[in-house]
Amino acid sequence: MKNLFLKISTFAAVTVFASAAFAVLISAQQPQIRTPRQMPMPANPDFSKLEVQTLHVQGNIHLIAGAGGNIVVQAGDDGVLMVDTGYDKMSDKVMAALKKISTKPIRDIVLTTLADDHTGANEVFVKAGSVNQAGPGLGGRPNTADLIGSGDLLRIMTEIGPDKISVNRWPPKTFLTPRMDFYMNDEPVIIMHIPEANTGGDSMVWFRRSDVVVTGDIFDETSFPHIDLEHGGGINGIIEGLNQLLEITVPKHLQEGGTMVVPGHGRISDEHDVLEYRDMVTIIRNRVQNAINKKMTLAQIKATKPSYTYEYELRFGNNKAWTPEMFVEAIYKSLTAAKP
Ligand SMILES: [Zn+2]
Repeated sequence: MKNLFLKISTFAAVTVFASAAFAVLISAQQPQIRTPRQMPMPANPDFSKLEVQTLHVQGNIHLIAGAGGNIVVQAGDDGVLMVDTGYDKMSDKVMAALKKISTKPIRDIVLTTLADDHTGANEVFVKAGSVNQAGPGLGGRPNTADLIGSGDLLRIMTEIGPDKISVNRWPPKTFLTPRMDFYMNDEPVIIMHIPEANTGGDSMVWFRRSDVVVTGDIFDETSFPHIDLEHGGGINGIIEGLNQLLEITVPKHLQEGGTMVVPGHGRISDEHDVLEYRDMVTIIRNRVQNAINKKMTLAQIKATKPSYTYEYELRFGNNKAWTPEMFVEAIYKSLTAAKP
């Protein structure tokens, strides 16, 4: 009897050891491309309870997740470049995470879109940064980080006005061309403006040597893409942005790995994830367009549930702030809006 007990406990110990070893093996194989933050953030989060998580993506690029939209940090000898800043109320936790990645000054902050969860803490990180070591610039220009966004993003923020969105969140440094590029931390950084996407002012950021693209909400692993019609968004711009993304991403092996894509929300992805998302968004757009061609009303189109096939709603329909019905309605309005 005693021997039997000994045998069972040895067996149990071996099993525990084996599963622990298996877990270590899994985390060793995929340490940098998965984050558990797959669910959309609640509409009114209790910020005091939220924590941020940091992951190395590849090359110079790190992700800080959990502060609203995904925040990306490029770190090197030249200093720190941030893409987006998250919710204002999460800025202390993001700053602490940032300091663990690099103690160099923040030089540039690039904005992908308009929303509070991407641009809320702009002022905090601009003031914490510096463009040069030598103190105030020419003409007493404050020595803070440069805040960069498309000219259309600045125009939209200006139209919304300083009462609703503080001027300290507006990007003073803008570009009016489809792309803006510069060199930072030994790699080309290319900002790609995508008109009429989630809003009229969206951009993606391509780190060419690290081989990472940061997409903003054009690609959202937790939700159907948000379309802010009031501020210049449109379904066709989102599809155009996803197609541009597919042109510059290259898979490494069997459609896996290679160029890493950081979505606006959710886990780090690769080209194949973008391909599936682009196909999903295009199929739903086409279903709505076909129904419009048949002169169906919005209510009739909603009743056909154009977003419900395969895993679409199971996977992307859990965002209470942006339901499948809201997505379908926005596609309908986007496709039927009078063109200026
Ligand atoms: Zn977002």
